[in-house]
Amino acid sequence: MKIAIIGAGIAGLAASVRLASRGHDVTVFEANSYPGGKLSEFSLPSLKNKNQFYRFDAGPSLFTMPQYVEELFDIAEIPPGDYFSYRKQEIVCQYFWEDGTALTAFSDPEKLEKEVQQKLGVNGHLIIDALQKARRKYDIAGKLFLENSLHKTKTWLSWRVLQAFIRVLTLDIFKTMNQTHERAFNKNPKLVQFFNRFATYNGSDPYKASGMLSVIPHFEHGIGTFYPEGGMSRITKAIFHLAEKKGVKFRFNTPIDAISYSLPNTETKTTVNGVTTASGEKFSCDVVVSNMDVYFTYKKLLPQLPFPEKTLNQERSTSALIFYWGIRKTFKALDLHNIFFSDNYQKEFEHLAQGTLYRDPTVYINITSGLTPTDAPENCENWFVMVNAPHNTHQNWEDLIQTTRKNIISKLSRLLKTDISVLIDAEEILSPVGIEAKTQSFTGSLYGTSSNSMMSAFLRHANFSSEIKNLYFCGGSVHPGGGIPLCLLSAKITSEIINDKL
Ligand code: FAD
Repeated sequence: MKIAIIGAGIAGLAASVRLASRGHDVTVFEANSYPGGKLSEFSLPSLKNKNQFYRFDAGPSLFTMPQYVEELFDIAEIPPGDYFSYRKQEIVCQYFWEDGTALTAFSDPEKLEKEVQQKLGVNGHLIIDALQKARRKYDIAGKLFLENSLHKTKTWLSWRVLQAFIRVLTLDIFKTMNQTHERAFNKNPKLVQFFNRFATYNGSDPYKASGMLSVIPHFEHGIGTFYPEGGMSRITKAIFHLAEKKGVKFRFNTPIDAISYSLPNTETKTTVNGVTTASGEKFSCDVVVSNMDVYFTYKKLLPQLPFPEKTLNQERSTSALIFYWGIRKTFKALDLHNIFFSDNYQKEFEHLAQGTLYRDPTVYINITSGLTPTDAPENCENWFVMVNAPHNTHQNWEDLIQTTRKNIISKLSRLLKTDISVLIDAEEILSPVGIEAKTQSFTGSLYGTSSNSMMSAFLRHANFSSEIKNLYFCGGSVHPGGGIPLCLLSAKITSEIINDKL
């Protein structure tokens, strides 16, 4: 079968490996000059010395569920060898609060229990119980709904679905994440905030999202967090390498403008038959997989088709404001992942819901130069500084960026007891507008639609079109959602449906 994939995001790349490994003739069309979409990298020169550079991963910084990358090597029957290796992190994250409390979130449950007891003055066993409950949720329902299409009858007819329904009350579906965590942690504000933060892993609001999402800590603390040797972009490089080895053809700098299809007749349904590039070249094929945001796939590539309002007009996930800073100092207190919590988490989310940023946002800093020293000059660090931001509804971003930059510098300077402003030796800023422009993600949302409603998982777009035969979708804007592991799963689900059908 001749297959065209639109977009070389992580899901498009993974789908290309899976489909080419089954012997299909696969061509990937990518608008940018590089693969990876949000999962790419760049470097900035030092302002002090133009010959020195800071390397940054542009988007994702947290790597969980590495088995889905390994699975691609298995399918392609190519050993990861020199192309991909990773290590488990002993410290998952360093947390800091305004009152000076600092907590090290160890991967080891016993160490974590002790740390929570010592630093937060609560019974550490609460956190162990909460993590066990997260694991149970994952075993009962998480795995089932993430690894299968929710739009295929065979998923619903399985014995495991019946078991999930029987235990539905244990999943906290009808409570919010915040209510779930307040109960689990006897309202200890710091522990609740620590666990509520996991809502942001798919761009949601813990005060609205279902308690089912408290399964997410299991990915981080139950299974673990990992660091790909050389940085996150090594994931893209590894999958791109696999795709090339399996004979996938790549057409970079080639945006697709239209998906074409034959009209139905008495014998056949409307069936996809090709794509057209922005320069007008027509490419015929039997199957099209769109890794482009599904909203724009309909709006731009399929304007004649009825727009699925109910699915695609759902609330978007949050976006992010990122400051990539080269810093002329090293900080012993900081690790790979660091969080500086807001003084009022609920207020922060209220501001996001109103389309703006709180004066004291939660600040995330990712630093890879501690693990990959070539990522920054000697005695310097590469800081990826990110705050949650509302998706783009044409706010005055210039103002929001300047105010937030000032607020972040003042917060970090206060908590790290060092004037950060004088240490910034390189800078690049990425806003929701930039995210939308770079990867064609509608409104610059990081994870497609949000999971703020109980029904979100079921309303997310399917991995196939019910209007056009042989048209499929993968990536963060369709089932099962955004984030690297879920995007890799969407590629898996889509490829399996294609392989089952052909
Ligand atoms: P995308 O990365 O969205 O790529 C889509 C590709 O399609 C792009 O390359 C685009 O150029 C191309 N394209 C679009 N339209 C066309 C067209 N018409 N023709 C040709 N090509 C086209 N996830 C995590 O797991 N951990 C994290 O820590 C994390 N942090 C994040 C931080 C940031 C700042 C961002 C932006 C995202 C983060 N994510 C994280 C989310 C994760 O990056 C995404 O869910 C995932 O990378 C999306 O992959 P995708 O396959 O959907 O495609």
